[in-house]
Amino acid sequence: MKTILNDFEHFAPKTVEEALDLLSRYGEEECKIVAGGQSLLILMKQRLVTPKYLIDIKGISALDYITFDEQQGLKIGALTTHRAIEKSPVIEKYYPVLAEMEQNVSSVETRNWGTIGGNISHGDPSGDPAPVFIALNGRLRIAGLNGERTVEAEDFTLGYFETVLGHDELLTEIQVPALPPHTGVKYTKFSQLQGDYATASVAVSITLEAKKKTCSDVRIALGAVAPAPMRAKKAEEILRGEKISDDLLARAGQAASEEASPTTDAEVSEEYKRELVKVLVKRVAKEAFERAKKA
Ligand SMILES: Cc1cc2nc3c(=O)[nH]c(=O)nc-3n(C[C@H](O)[C@H](O)[C@H](O)COP(=O)(O)OP(=O)(O)OC[C@H]3O[C@@H](n4cnc5c(N)ncnc54)[C@H](O)[C@@H]3O)c2cc1C
Repeated sequence: MKTILNDFEHFAPKTVEEALDLLSRYGEEECKIVAGGQSLLILMKQRLVTPKYLIDIKGISALDYITFDEQQGLKIGALTTHRAIEKSPVIEKYYPVLAEMEQNVSSVETRNWGTIGGNISHGDPSGDPAPVFIALNGRLRIAGLNGERTVEAEDFTLGYFETVLGHDELLTEIQVPALPPHTGVKYTKFSQLQGDYATASVAVSITLEAKKKTCSDVRIALGAVAPAPMRAKKAEEILRGEKISDDLLARAGQAASEEASPTTDAEVSEEYKRELVKVLVKRVAKEAFERAKKA
C-alpha cells in the first residue's frame, strides 16, 4: 500500500548548531529542513520532494522571538509563527502593517503552524510577507557552519521557489529598521478567494519630510507579478522628492505595471495582472501617504 508520505528519518535538533551540523552531513536531494510543514508537507504528499532525512527545526526555541528597540529596530526569529506576529503587541504598536499582512495569510490553522522563516525560505513569489519586508527595508540573517551573513530582503528570492539560501544554511532572523518619522506603510493583496494566495499584491512605504508635504523616500514592492517579489524602482522615482498628487500616483501606478513581469496562468491573464498592479499601486501608495501624514 502506498503511504501518504515517503519513509524518512526524523531529526529534532534543539540548537542552530546541531541543525547546521545535520545539514552538512546529507546532500540536498536527500535532506530537507521542516519548520511548520505547511508548504513542505504538500510537496511531499505530491511526491515532488521525497527526502530521506527531515531536519525538524520547530524545537529550536531560541529562534522564536519578536523584539524591538529604536536603535536595533525589529527582530523576528525565523521560527515565529504567523499567528504570533499577527497578535504581537510590539508589532501592533510599531509595525501594524505586519499584523494587517498576516491577517491575509490563509487560515488561522495555517497561521498557527506556519513560520515566518519557512514562508520566506520557501521562495513563493505569491507569499504575503516578502513584499512587506522589502517595503520596510528589511534584512535577513542567515547562519551557516562557516559563520553568518545578512542579505537585503529584496535580494533574497532569486526566482520561482529559488532563494539565496545554500543547502547547508538556515534563515535565522528577519530584521527591520525603526521607521523614520512621518512614515506610512500599507499592504494590499488581491486574490480570487478570501485567504487564497495573491493574484497581485502591493506594499508601499512613504516617508514625508518635516512639513509633511514632500515625499522624501518611498519603497514600492510587488508580489505575485514576477518570478520573485520585486521593487518597482521606476515608480518610486516618480514619487521621490515630489509633492504627492493623484496625478503623480496614477503615473507611478502606470510605471509599476510596466516594470512588473506577470505571466498568464490558468485563471488570470497577464494584461489583467498588469491592470491590477496599476490600480493597486495608486491606491496603496495613496493610503501609505495618508498614514504618513498622521505619523
Ligand atoms: C492552505 C494553505 C494556504 C496558504 N496560503 C498562504 C497565503 O495566502 N499567503 C502566504 O504567504 N502563505 C500561504 N501559505 C503558506 C504558509 O503561510 C507558510 O508560511 C508556509 O507554508 C511556510 O511556513 P512553514 O513554517 O510551514 O514552512 P515549511 O513548510 O516547514 O518549509 C517551507 C520551506 O522552507 C524551508 N525552511 C523552513 N524554515 C527554514 C529556515 N528557517 N531556514 C531555511 N529553510 C527553511 C523548508 O525546507 C521548505 O523548503 C499557505 C499554506 C497553506 C497550507
